Amino acid sequence: MSTLKVLTYPHVLLKKKATPIEKFTPDLKTFSEKMFATMAASEGIGLAAPQVGISKRLIVVDVSGYAESDNDDAKAWIGTTRFTLNGTETPIPYPLALINPEISHSEEEIIFPFDGCLSLPGGSGYRTRRFRKIVLSACTVDGQNVTIETDGILSICLQHEMDHLEGILFVDRLIDGQDRENVLSEVTEYEQSSEFRKKLKKLKPVDARSIPLEFI
Ligand SMILES: [Zn+2]
Repeated sequence: MSTLKVLTYPHVLLKKKATPIEKFTPDLKTFSEKMFATMAASEGIGLAAPQVGISKRLIVVDVSGYAESDNDDAKAWIGTTRFTLNGTETPIPYPLALINPEISHSEEEIIFPFDGCLSLPGGSGYRTRRFRKIVLSACTVDGQNVTIETDGILSICLQHEMDHLEGILFVDRLIDGQDRENVLSEVTEYEQSSEFRKKLKKLKPVDARSIPLEFI
């Protein structure tokens, strides 16, 4: 499956608040599958529709790699998750697409030590202020009700993706103001690197704004 072009900082659409999805058309599912493919190809754990130029309230996440990782830093952030679909608790199905997500509860401010973003490629490992635990409700692509009560990496990832729907980037949540300049110079450097250009050449991403979409 082809992947979608990920907009990078300082694209104006990354600063725009996204609007709710009102039409649950069949192409919502196919579009979210394109976002899954884009997230996987870019080795990301989350992606929000505004990052591919579609200013709607849709996010995708997949943190399953954390449970399979040998890295102790990653393992420490696995956390626990309670996922319910139409009120019935089930194992969380990854990759997961969430429509019109809302956080109803968040608790305990913490510092997350390695934030990063596909829209700020090359800049990662920065410390941001987040909540440890959240409760989130949303819909699936076919309109079923989902609730997620989670801490650890899924909680952080959901907060990061929710921020994209408000036009907020992780550089807006850094605990050290100095880091902002460091992130932005790392991003500029990486975007000019042959590694980044090679990656793009291999992915041949499609601009989502050139695809006719019924749900927007
Ligand atoms: Zn991001």
